[in-house]
Order: sequence, then C-alpha cells, then structure tokens
Amino acid sequence: MERTSVPPIHNVAICGGTHGNELTGVYIVREMQKQKMEKAGSVSVTTVETNPRAVAAGRRYTEMDLNRCFTDVLLSSPITESTLYEVRRAQELNAQLGPKGSAEAVDLLIDLHNTTSNMGLCLIFYSIDWITLHIYKYIENNLSSVPVRAIQLDIPSSKAYSLESVGKHGFAIEVGPQPNGVLRADIFNVVKEALDLTLQWLQKFSSGHSFEGGTVEAYTFVKSVDYPRDSAGKATAVIHQNLQDNDFKLLRSGDPIFQTFSGDILKYEGEDLYPFFVNECAYYEKKIAFHLAQRKTYSFPPISVKND
Ligand SMILES: [Zn+2]
Repeated sequence: MERTSVPPIHNVAICGGTHGNELTGVYIVREMQKQKMEKAGSVSVTTVETNPRAVAAGRRYTEMDLNRCFTDVLLSSPITESTLYEVRRAQELNAQLGPKGSAEAVDLLIDLHNTTSNMGLCLIFYSIDWITLHIYKYIENNLSSVPVRAIQLDIPSSKAYSLESVGKHGFAIEVGPQPNGVLRADIFNVVKEALDLTLQWLQKFSSGHSFEGGTVEAYTFVKSVDYPRDSAGKATAVIHQNLQDNDFKLLRSGDPIFQTFSGDILKYEGEDLYPFFVNECAYYEKKIAFHLAQRKTYSFPPISVKND
C-alpha cells in the first residue's frame, strides 16, 4: 500500500472508571492525575475519571451502563428531571471531549476497561483506522507478557455506543481476567505498559517518524449467544469447562458450550467462529454468555504525520 500522510495527533484523552468496578483504569488515571501528567512530548494528555458516582459505589453503573450512552440519539436527547445519571454524564463527557463527529473532538480517546473473561489485552474499536491499527501493531510487537488482540465492532459512528467513539480516533483497552472490584498487579502492569507504548508511538509519530505498513488480524464481532433458558427466562446452564477461559480459541460445530444444571452437555452448531467475552460477569444481565467473531486480516499503509 502507498505511503499515506495523516493529520497530527495534538491531544489524547485517557479515561478510566467508565465502568465503576473495573479498577485498573481508575487507579491508572488517578496516578496520572497525581503526577500531573499533562504532556507526552508535544502531545497534550487529558485524564478523566468518567463515572465517579459508579466508582464511589463500586458498581459498573448507577442507573444505566454509561458505555452504552454515546449513540447520537442519547447524546442529543433533551435533559429532563427524569434523565438517568449516566445519560447526563455522557452528555457532559461529550461536551468535554467531543462533540462526537466534530472538528473540536479530542484527536485520540482511549478508554480503559477490565473484563472477567480470559482475554489478555485487546484493543476494541469501531472503524478500521490507520492510527489505531498502527498503535495496535506497535503494542503487539513490543508487549510480550500477554496475548494482544484487536476486536472490531462493525457499527456506524451514529450508533456507536461507547465512549471511545467520541474521539476523532479512539479505542478501548480491555484487559482480563480480573474480577470486578479487584486490582491485580499483573493486569495493572500490562495496561500501564500498553499505555506507555501508545504514548511512545504518539511522540514518534508527532516528531515525524515514518512507520512501515503491514497487516493485522482483527476479530470482527458476528453475534452474541445467550444462555439456554427455561420458560420463566431463568438460565438453565453454565458455560462448559472446555469453553471457559478459552476466549479466541476457534469454536467448531459439535464443540461443547454449555453444561445444564441437570448435567447435559449442549453443543455448538454453526460456522466456525472465535468466542470472546466468555462468561463475562457484567453480561449476565445483558443475556450474553459469549460473543462470536470472525478473524480477518487487514492491510494498512506506511504512514507519517501530515504537517499542519
Ligand atoms: Zn468495562
């Protein structure tokens, strides 16, 4: 692919606590604030604890999942007395870091998350964008302690529901397994390392370094699978032990996926796909046992910064 010049990244927002019980991001953001980390080379850094009420309560959210509130519809809904706290908060964040889709929006938005699933470190993003793919490749090449993967949610910007969609470029860093409300040093260190690599990449990019092109493999979301349920809607099975902790291991027709509480084994039927967010704690209420993805290869061009 031909060399491409890309507009500069002048500012980056690093966010944590969008889910109040995912503690790695909360403590990384607080530490950056304590150290008054406002610049990385020529790039300005803003740090935001995005859902302080949920963090204080030690819960994912207080009234609605904040990371489902960044669609155009919710961001433009009128605020009334009955507006939920997180919808209000999403509009404040959109005013501070966006507005989404505008020239004023922050150049790059990174939101830090944890999962209870065994997913290693994942960058999750909506569009295939050269900046994100280059940063992903840079992290993948330089971080060896855990598997590093890319997940693409093929959703148009207007319907993109999570915070990173507010930036001109954006991704979530999702790392697990870590229980909700718990901090683990290994997970903390991996997220810190991925962030340091990102800031390093941004400084090199800003100073005119040119990055080689290449390819990345990304997992593209296909569908979610719910638990089997009885007529009253109660789950009748648990994730099968062969699937548990085996995120990103190819699932083939005939592989066991659930074990009912009476001891029956339920098997997967369908095309070969890759499971992820297997047995994620927060997805019980969303009626999701795991997601399935296709793995695709994307090429990206060599890039360097386009001077203003
Ligand atoms: Zn989260």
